[in-house]
Amino acid sequence: MDLHVHTALSPCAAAEMVPPAMLLAAERGGVAVLGVVDHSSAGNAAAVLEAAPAFDVAVLVGLEVESVEGVHLLALFATAAAATAFGALVATHLPPLRNRPDLFGEQMLVNEWGEVVAEESRLLAVATDLGVEEVADLILAHEGLCVAAHVDRTANGLLPTLGFVPPRLHLDGLELSRFTSPAAALARWPELRRQPLLQSSDAHCLAEIGCVRTLVPAELGSPGNALQDWGRALAEFLKEVTSRHA
Ligand SMILES: [Zn+2]
Ligand SMILES: [Zn+2]
Repeated sequence: MDLHVHTALSPCAAAEMVPPAMLLAAERGGVAVLGVVDHSSAGNAAAVLEAAPAFDVAVLVGLEVESVEGVHLLALFATAAAATAFGALVATHLPPLRNRPDLFGEQMLVNEWGEVVAEESRLLAVATDLGVEEVADLILAHEGLCVAAHVDRTANGLLPTLGFVPPRLHLDGLELSRFTSPAAALARWPELRRQPLLQSSDAHCLAEIGCVRTLVPAELGSPGNALQDWGRALAEFLKEVTSRHA
């Protein structure tokens, strides 16, 4: 499972990050469940899901949302409609700024074949005006999964940014970046011992897809139709694995 990869819509991602190439890289790398997100937008979610049936990869789509505190959260959904609806809500909480491709990078909207169809002009890689708990509660209300992204990372990670895991923050998973390991993270942050830890690539180019991943048993290898049920089963499994690392 690699639940955190970006498409060419993210200004920091490579232009090669388009649906067929990403799905082929995931399939070849043995990734059973791929989570595809972009900063503050689900603009490429439908294209990814349209391309997905040609590949042996289950796909979740969504957004990477930055809270007002600067914490990155992944919002993952089973359908393009759900991701798009959540993206429309997030758009109302972004500052009305335009992207500067020369400074921040290009933000490409693509189709299921990987062809560029438009360029997103809004600035996407920017914080919303929503608190971290508000973002998590909204994801839950939209029947998505909420994963705190790269919780160990100094830039936009939950632990360095807030210093602790807020007790009433609803999270289906806490993601470690590729720059640490569960053992190292647990040694530094013992409060992670009871948490559903997972690890993802945060891939911004094809070669990075699946470069770190989370191993799950075969019965969790496809989210199926009831995403939040799968999320609960996954969280239980991940907590169990975390306790073995601790
Ligand atoms: Zn991030
Ligand atoms: Zn990311």
